[in-house]
This record gives sequence, structure tokens and C-alpha cells, in this order.
Amino acid sequence: MRTSRILQTVLGVLGAGLLMISGAPADAGVSTVGATGAGDPFFPRQGNGGYRVEHYNLAIDYHPATHHLAGRARIVAHATKLLTRFDLDLRRFMHVQSVQVNGAPATFAQPRAEVQELVISPAAPVAQGQPLVVTVLYAGTAHDIFDPDGSPDGFIVTRDGAMVANEPQGAPTWFPVNDTPRDKATYRVQVTVPRGLVAVSNGAFRGRTTSNGRTTWHWRMGTPISSYLVTATIGKFTVRQGTTTTGIPYFTAYDPAEQAAAMPVVHRLGAVLKFFSRKYGKYPYGWAGAIVEHARFVGYALETATRPLFDRAPDALTFAHELAHQWFGDDVTLRHWRDIWLNEGFAEFSDWLWDEHRGGLTAHQHLRRLLSHPPSAKYEWLPAPAAPPDSVHIFANSVYERGAGALQALRQKLGSPMFFRILRGWLRAHRYSNASVPQFTAYAQQVSGRNLHHFFYEWLYRPAKPFS
Ligand SMILES: [Zn+2]
Repeated sequence: MRTSRILQTVLGVLGAGLLMISGAPADAGVSTVGATGAGDPFFPRQGNGGYRVEHYNLAIDYHPATHHLAGRARIVAHATKLLTRFDLDLRRFMHVQSVQVNGAPATFAQPRAEVQELVISPAAPVAQGQPLVVTVLYAGTAHDIFDPDGSPDGFIVTRDGAMVANEPQGAPTWFPVNDTPRDKATYRVQVTVPRGLVAVSNGAFRGRTTSNGRTTWHWRMGTPISSYLVTATIGKFTVRQGTTTTGIPYFTAYDPAEQAAAMPVVHRLGAVLKFFSRKYGKYPYGWAGAIVEHARFVGYALETATRPLFDRAPDALTFAHELAHQWFGDDVTLRHWRDIWLNEGFAEFSDWLWDEHRGGLTAHQHLRRLLSHPPSAKYEWLPAPAAPPDSVHIFANSVYERGAGALQALRQKLGSPMFFRILRGWLRAHRYSNASVPQFTAYAQQVSGRNLHHFFYEWLYRPAKPFS
């Protein structure tokens, strides 16, 4: 994610007044009820326990004139313990009509107090290790929700469709999901919209079919991704398809209002992917592209897998940032939201690298500029990148800029060959999986053979300008 600087400043002020909800739910060992959360202290209702999802098959039907969304979700999972009851995450404004589990009707509830829990009781208990295939029919008036930092999230209605951006908690606004970043799954997404509109999701474009004035767009994401990286963005888009010079097929959609400004930047897609592939290793996915919206009120861009999503024509560094996330964030994903530095610090550092490559400031100059701020500059230094105190501050400026500075400082301490060896090894070790900040710092120490304890404490954890 990359927030516009104007909004960042507003959020910095807003954040101070908001409260965090805390307390992780417990998943008692003897219970046959799946937990109502996945244990993230910043988003305690996010995700669930008792099962793992392998695949989502989503069919979404959307009417922009009325904002009416009807959906059918077929979720292929398996029970990780004996289950008599379990939850999916779905906001209550999406009304569930029926639920089937393993082919039999199940009872269900959407309790008011639980905000986003769809509580499901199968007709028969599901044994540990057994398939859990859940089919949910639902419908409602689609809209977004607000994140703790005040930004819109989820199914964000636009003048001609919707910009669908799920980080960190928007997925349950439009489909039933185990909404923890740690339950990665493959996706098949079909979106039906009025003829003339385009619906763009992740991965491979599998064609479109039109009947009775409505067009269904077919998408297939065959590599497991976290639910906050899924999109189904809808609008009047101009589509460009092709193959990058390194052989990656792309599908890019432009809102006509942003196309002229966006094309010179987005045309560098192949060059940026090639550059990061040389630094970090092979591009993790079989498809690429971008979605350029005309929805400036959203205030940020998001690294939706294979096809980053921009609320406006991106500048070159925002574009590079979201593409770098395909490695750092999408391929190797945070375990908990407090690990956000693994996403944002690395993506921001990557655009320092891209800036150097394109003849702008060098990464060293970016670091010097950061270090020119005095210890009293709270916006630059607080919170420490690996210690955001709550959900309000996970996208704070310091997570990005001080977070990028930590990596450039590490590079200067260890030398580029060792530094990039660590990054490439880190990506290989956690491919298509999740990891935490302590795992990274331990890995860097192990590979380099250096004691980096104090260095990481100063850059990532101490609530002050590093070494001040
Ligand atoms: Zn980002």
C-alpha cells in the first residue's frame, strides 16, 4: 500500500484520537467450535480457527445503478480439528440466504454483536482432516468500511463501478472468507456486470461471456495468495494486453480519465519487473499488469496480487513500490499486522533502488535525506517500524521511510553482495508463505554471521531516531 502524502498527514492527526480494540480470542483445545478470530491482536475478529482454506470459487453479480451485489462462494477447505461449528468472515450488510456444508444444508447466523462473523453449524460434525466444502449464497447493498486509520477499505463504490481494495480488513465486505493473511488460497473469480463495463481480478484472464446485456469476466489465480490481496475492480476501463520482454503475460486496465497520465509510467512494467527480478529473484507469478482507477478520494494504491491497483495515474516511484510488493508482501507475507515493516519497509526501499536505477536520487542519498531530520521529527521517526502500537499506525510514514532506511543502513553495514544474498535467501525460504520480523532479523544474523542485535534494535524497535 502507498498512501498519498496529503492523506498521511491527515491520518497522523486522526490516529491520535482513535482507540484500538484488543484481546485475542482463545481456541480451546477440547472445543469442537472453531475460533472466531485468528489471533491477531490488532484485528481480533479477523480470520477464524478450526480449518484451512485451499480454494475460493467466487461468482459475483453487481449492478452499479443500485449497488446491489449478489454472490455465490464455494470454499474448499479442510477441518484442522473436529468441528460442530465454525465461522467465516462476512459483514452483516451482506445478507446470507443459504449455507451448505459438504453438500448438506447447514444452519447459520450473522450475530449483530460479532460485526463480521458468519457462524455456521453443519448438519453433521466434520472430523479433523476431512474436507470442508462450504457454499454460501448472499446478497446486499455493497459498500466499503473504514479502517482504524480512517481510510476506505473493501468494496469501494466509484462513479462507474467499484475499486475493490481489501487491505487490511475489506475482503468480508464482498465475500465470505477466512480473512487472515496466513490462510493463503487459490481463487477463481467470475464477475458479472452490465455490458460495457470491465471487471478485473487477479491472475490469468480466462475470457468473457455476454448474454442478456450482461458480461461475465473470468479470472483464475492459481498461486495461493492472502485474501487482502484479492480484487474484483469494476469500471469503464480501456484494456491493454500483451507480454513483457521477459515473457510475462499482462492485462492492464485504465480508467480513460487517467490513461494519458498513467501510460508512460505503466509502460515500464516489464522494465521494473526485470530490474526487481535481477535483485530479488524470479517474479513470483505467471501474470502481471495494473489497474488504474479514477477514484482519488480513496487516497492510496494497493499491491493486489499480479495486478496492483491505483486510485489515480501513479508516479514512477509509487508504481515501483507496488510492483516490489509482489515479492515483499504478496509472495512473502506478514504473519501479524505488527509485522507490516516486512511489507512496507521493503517496498519503499525497493523504490529507492528503482529511483537510483532510473537516475534519480541514489538509495544512499535517500538515506542521508532521511537522517537529516532531527530526533524531534516525530513524523519521520515514530512509531518505530517494527513496533506499531496499534492498528491505527500500521501505515504510518515511519514504517515506510524509517523502514526503508533500516534496509539501506543494513546494506551499507554488510555490503551489497551479502545484503542481497540475505534478501534472495529470505524470499526463497518463505515462498508463498508468511513470516515475522523476528524471523527476518534472526535470518540476517545467521546468514551474515554478524551480531546485528543492537543495529536492529536501534532501527526497528527503539522509539527514537536511530543512534540518536
Ligand atoms: Zn506498500
